[in-house]
Amino acid sequence: MLKDQDRIFTNLYGMHDRTLKGAQARGHWDGTAKLIQQGRDAIIDTMKASGLRGRGGAGFPTGLKWSFMPKESDGRPAYLVINADESEPGTCKDREIMRHDPHTLIEGALIASFAMNAHTCYIYLRGEYIREREALQAAIDEAYDAGLLGKNAAGSGWDFDVFLHHGAGAYICGEETALIESLEGKKGMPRMKPPFPAGAGLYGCPTTVNNVESIAVVPTILRRGAEWFAGFGRPNNAGTKLFAISGHVNNPCVVEEAMSISFEELIEKHCGGIRGGWDNLLAVIPGGSSVPCVRGENMRDAIMDFDYLRNDLGSGLGTAAVIVMDKQTDIIKAIWRLSKFYKHESCGQCTPCREGTGWMMRVMDRLVQGKADVEEIDMLWDVTKQVEGHTICALGDAAAWPIQGLIRNFRGEIEDRIKANKTGRMGALAAE
Ligand code: SF4
Repeated sequence: MLKDQDRIFTNLYGMHDRTLKGAQARGHWDGTAKLIQQGRDAIIDTMKASGLRGRGGAGFPTGLKWSFMPKESDGRPAYLVINADESEPGTCKDREIMRHDPHTLIEGALIASFAMNAHTCYIYLRGEYIREREALQAAIDEAYDAGLLGKNAAGSGWDFDVFLHHGAGAYICGEETALIESLEGKKGMPRMKPPFPAGAGLYGCPTTVNNVESIAVVPTILRRGAEWFAGFGRPNNAGTKLFAISGHVNNPCVVEEAMSISFEELIEKHCGGIRGGWDNLLAVIPGGSSVPCVRGENMRDAIMDFDYLRNDLGSGLGTAAVIVMDKQTDIIKAIWRLSKFYKHESCGQCTPCREGTGWMMRVMDRLVQGKADVEEIDMLWDVTKQVEGHTICALGDAAAWPIQGLIRNFRGEIEDRIKANKTGRMGALAAE
């Protein structure tokens, strides 16, 4: 189990003072100018060596992403945009940082912006996060008053401003280019890539979009060193990580743990076990609603990191939002609910997503009731494959994968329900 002295987020549960004074007492904003004076290349090299992979879901190496930004300005400004949209169902980790540990995010924003030649950072906040905005804005105001932001921020010689932007609650604005469009005052619709944001992002200028957690861990990595951070987890899956465990565990929680912890240890140590015991575990969605579900019996020994979940279980770590479902769950209905969500959130720009999400949801609708033919399961699978990888942004994949996970792992249950409907032996739950 991760030791307390190795936790980056020391006020995750809001038990301590979240103001600047409290944050400084816990070691934040300590020698920030010195960290910055190491220089751009040294900071990026440390981030690369730490092995930090983006915490927003895709797991792209953070240091490498930063290095895509132009070294010399061609006259255009550069921007850091922090993605605090956090709208993936099951995901609720960044809000804890913004509520209780906002200063580590703001300090990280300064350092990261410096490393990417940006004098301005925008934090794009999910529409529903009202209290988080208040907490974050209060922290930003405090930092300005203390000279940690603004001209010569924290005495580093770097001028730096942070602006909070509150979204209006659309899931798709968590996609980086849709987020940029929304920041520019347009409808949140994803852009085609290329050009990538590092070449032409916000207002056509070089931009990097990073997740809240990815930026909030930066100051501690620089203070304690890349080796310290890389010492947790397995190679290529380094560091500590916030896990958000919800669903049928005895004690749902958000907890910082070492990457590559086993699923069983995570659940037993922090969540008080599975409701009704391990034999009652039906399925787990290990990384937020867009990754495929996994059968419970395959999850117990699972290693919670990017590579294991993808290569060994055909799922993904995503945002590390772990959704646990016990045997009381109607798994077909649970996945149908996700289909409904993605259908609702599709921006409608590309045909496979606009038409496919609705089509998939309607078939799922019938599968929940068993009012389908067994052959339609394969047809549904084919449609998910026609949506996956054929759209402008990853929402198409996010809509396809949960259904693929269901068919791969719970085909027997779907067929049973169809047969039960045909023979008139529907259970009360499925017939709802
Ligand atoms: Fe919009 Fe869906 Fe296309 Fe993404 S995949 S751009 S959400 S229609």
